[in-house]
Amino acid sequence: MFIVMRPEATDDDIRRVIEVVESCGFRGHAVPGASRTGVVITGNQGVIDQAPFSGLPGVAECIRITRPYKLVGSDLKQERSVIRIGEAEIGGDELALIAGVCAVESREQTMLTAELVAELGGKWFRGGAFKPRTSPYAFQGLAEEGLKILAEVRDRFGLRIVTEAVDEPALDLTEKYADVIQIGTRNSQNFSLLKRAGQARKPILLKRGMSSTLEEFLLAAEYIMAEGNYQVILCERGIRTFATHSRFTPDLTIVPEVHRLTHLPIIFDPSHSTGKRETVIPLARAAVAVGADGLLVDVHPYPERALCDGPQALLFDQYRQLVKEIRAIADIVKRSPLVHG
Ligand code: PEP
Ligand code: MN
Repeated sequence: MFIVMRPEATDDDIRRVIEVVESCGFRGHAVPGASRTGVVITGNQGVIDQAPFSGLPGVAECIRITRPYKLVGSDLKQERSVIRIGEAEIGGDELALIAGVCAVESREQTMLTAELVAELGGKWFRGGAFKPRTSPYAFQGLAEEGLKILAEVRDRFGLRIVTEAVDEPALDLTEKYADVIQIGTRNSQNFSLLKRAGQARKPILLKRGMSSTLEEFLLAAEYIMAEGNYQVILCERGIRTFATHSRFTPDLTIVPEVHRLTHLPIIFDPSHSTGKRETVIPLARAAVAVGADGLLVDVHPYPERALCDGPQALLFDQYRQLVKEIRAIADIVKRSPLVHG
């Protein structure tokens, strides 16, 4: 249920509504809007009786929610959600370019890449310290040592750090070092991890499960938000199809659909979707043109020696090219230029 407050409702009125919701054994989420606040009720199994709420001071009306997701949907919150950390933002006027290494392999490889990203005006840096690898024998990441290198990147270059947590202990640790915590495609329906992410005090970048439908993807985001963390960024990273010419099949149609159905930002990862550096720039261009709120891109100073995902990492010159091309398209689609390089 969605309780619509009157425009003149006070903070005390809203608090009182939430108290009554909680006394019924449910959870109340205040969703502020431009002219009025709404309170979304979660935690109920069936239809809720509106009688305890409809007469409370400040309440305008109670509306039943018929969609499977409640907090993610744009019908309840028309204003787009913008995630802001200092000067960096995702989902606002500016296109967010989150570039960096797939895995933090060494201090040198990470610093060289961060220097390039900063030089080209980037505000965000990505890098995995915990890697979800298909083979148990593949490089699994430097764990806390990698997180410390990422913290040094933030100190040295002022870049905001996006890094993945693969399980709950990794999330505990990542929460201390990251600006944004990533949940990868393989964990997109790991519901206990999603709930833990919902208790984190950092924004969550949630990747689409490689075989998730749009509704399953949005319900994964709902898991995070239902725990009280409303700072969620969605990321399309390609899905499994019968196609074998690319690692996954990027589904760019999801971008306008997410914008239509939700208030959340959605970014696109051309690196993990295609698996090939030759196709990263063309797909990145398309994603910006289609309205993505940002990009997540792998870059490597010497990808032939990379310990993870070398074939998809852009060379430094290709990254320079990408930034140039993306700026031009961002201008046309009325996103402010992301960089001043
Ligand atoms: C990554 O971004 O490093 C990653 C492992 O991506 P995905 O979960 O999309 O495969
Ligand atoms: Mn990777």
